[in-house]
Amino acid sequence: MDKQITKKMEEIVGKDWVVTNSKDIESYIKDETEEAIAPKPCFDCIVVKPTTTEEISQIMTYANNENVTVVVRGGGTGCAGAAVPIKPSVILSTERMNKILEIDDNNMMVECEAGVTLFDLEEEFNKHDSLFFPVHPGDEGAQVGGMIVQNAGGVRAVRHGVMRNHVKGMEIVLPTGEVIKTGGKLIKDNTGYDLTHLMIGSEGTLGIITKAYLKLYPKSSNSGSLLISFEDKKAAIEVVPKILKKGITPLAIEYLERQFMEKSADDLGLEWPAKKGKVDLYFILDEKKQDDLYEVSEKIVEECEKNGAVGSLIAETYKEQRAILEIRSHGYPSVQAQVVDILDVCVPIGSINDYMDGIERLSKKYDAYIPSFGHVGDGNIHNFIITEDGTKPENYDELSQEIFEIAVGLGGTITAEHGVGKIRNSRLNIQYSEKHLDILRGIKKVFDPNNILNPDTGITIQ
Ligand SMILES: Cc1cc2nc3c(=O)[nH]c(=O)nc-3n(C[C@H](O)[C@H](O)[C@H](O)COP(=O)(O)OP(=O)(O)OC[C@H]3O[C@@H](n4cnc5c(N)ncnc54)[C@H](O)[C@@H]3O)c2cc1C
Repeated sequence: MDKQITKKMEEIVGKDWVVTNSKDIESYIKDETEEAIAPKPCFDCIVVKPTTTEEISQIMTYANNENVTVVVRGGGTGCAGAAVPIKPSVILSTERMNKILEIDDNNMMVECEAGVTLFDLEEEFNKHDSLFFPVHPGDEGAQVGGMIVQNAGGVRAVRHGVMRNHVKGMEIVLPTGEVIKTGGKLIKDNTGYDLTHLMIGSEGTLGIITKAYLKLYPKSSNSGSLLISFEDKKAAIEVVPKILKKGITPLAIEYLERQFMEKSADDLGLEWPAKKGKVDLYFILDEKKQDDLYEVSEKIVEECEKNGAVGSLIAETYKEQRAILEIRSHGYPSVQAQVVDILDVCVPIGSINDYMDGIERLSKKYDAYIPSFGHVGDGNIHNFIITEDGTKPENYDELSQEIFEIAVGLGGTITAEHGVGKIRNSRLNIQYSEKHLDILRGIKKVFDPNNILNPDTGITIQ
């Protein structure tokens, strides 16, 4: 990295907050993308750790004038290589911008800096007597800024949706260094094009979020978990829209293949509580009154039994609920060494079984084990492409291409949560026309005329 750039960064944020030592930089150039498909990181980088919007504005003004590439780094928990620098870059870490600025009870909003982690938010609202923030992707190291630009979802999306449903405003430093503000503590705002929503899901390519207003919700204090077992995988999937149509909206509905959960439990020295059947639906419930919790549980069990469920189990105590959640959350880490790619497609809920038929056909065609697991209540089942040692199989490109084509053919998307990042850019044309891609490129050019902010992420500009 050019010494002039390092010197300028030291002037802006102070010498102590510029990392130039390659050993320390190492942990900033990777994210949680599977190694077999992760972008090749560039080591010729420095890490800068500002604490104010003004410092970030100065960094971007300089970078834009001098044509220096900048990659923002949140918690580094992304799964699509978006935060990985692939050319010499200034890595701008938001880790020191970690203040929760205000919890406004009356307006039911929290104002916080972008580097606040999900863990920090959870801690804060565990202490709060009546309000909480609902979005919860699986890694609590994720930061608010990263969650916004990735439009994060997670298990609670069945009831609460994704980040897009809860971000009401933000402060943004543009790639050219100017600062703009969007929205606020507002429920309604119809003034002009909606830049708040353009930033949500922009994968760190249009601007740097420095602050955000997030909507809060009243807590319900009666939670419970249900595990309902099925012999037939299709029957388990079929029952999901039937439950939702009844007006029952659990926090989460997860599809868990038994083999997978037993492996995860084994790994943790625990036991998966369901024994009958081959697959489980895992419902997380959260109701205002204890009676409501029982009533909703009964209705779900009844509907599942009508659809062929062979067993059901209600976890009421904190310990029982925690154990199931822990095993579910460990599902991915328990096979991580063998995973080549976690696919993240989404299809309409009513088409999940058609999608799964496609997966079964491809498993046979490519002689591949492609287990499925995840957010069945949102149509967002994660499929794992797995090999014995996690190395990319020769037919990976064709296999994944066919999976994406099946999803898009059913009216779905190639990525529901993880984003395009730097690993799925070449697949965008499966979903979008050339005109659509042109509009995306045009938007990027308006925000970032010199293409200095996280280039080659999401959409590539020549
Ligand atoms: C075990 C595990 C489970 C997960 N489960 C889920 C899940 O259930 N649902 C889900 O949606 N995701 C999930 N994820 C993915 C990941 O946690 C989310 O994508 C998260 O939102 C990333 O946030 P981050 O702060 O780590 O971002 P990073 O990985 O640091 O960065 C991601 C992108 O955001 C940009 N960025 C970061 N901060 C800012 C900012 N302030 N301004 C502008 N751009 C910024 C970066 O430049 C990069 O392009 C999971 C990941 C792991 C490892």
